[in-house]
Amino acid sequence: MDCKEIREYITLEPNDERVEIQTHLLQCTSCADYRRRQHSLDVVLQAEMRWETPADLTARLLNIAANPALLANPTVMLQPRPKGWHVVLVYTVTIMAVILSIAMGVQIFGLLATQIGLQSTIDQLVIWPSQAVAQLIQVLPESRYVIDFFLQARTYLLWLLCVAVVWAVLDRWTPQMSSGRSQVQA
Ligand SMILES: [Zn+2]
Repeated sequence: MDCKEIREYITLEPNDERVEIQTHLLQCTSCADYRRRQHSLDVVLQAEMRWETPADLTARLLNIAANPALLANPTVMLQPRPKGWHVVLVYTVTIMAVILSIAMGVQIFGLLATQIGLQSTIDQLVIWPSQAVAQLIQVLPESRYVIDFFLQARTYLLWLLCVAVVWAVLDRWTPQMSSGRSQVQA
């Protein structure tokens, strides 16, 4: 096996301990370096791609899964009932952590792609939509204004999406909380 094949094996099967690979790694310092880099990248990827859900939420969801009847009775489910701002804070932090993890994941994937030579494939994939856009502009020149608008509005659209997600989460919580409260009062 040559260096290229060895590196492909290391990338695709990081835990493969076959003798040919081990022998080559002992003789070839550049492949040994490649394997070390690959391993440290794996460690970072595993740490970054793991999302911790709040223990409180996990316990509550497991409780509901074990006793589906709890869904019909929100007062039982919400004992002890968390404070409103606490729920908002937990979900906001969770969503921010998820978004940050995705951003980090994309960045690390970029690094990984460069290292294993996926970059040219990705470049082609990125070029393909821009070729389609270029053709569209040729056929329909007015579409350029619409595309420009969307490119400029992209950041705002992403923020709106974040706000929409937070609102959807809060909206699901609020009726449960208020129905729980009204049942307690009644
Ligand atoms: Zn080698």
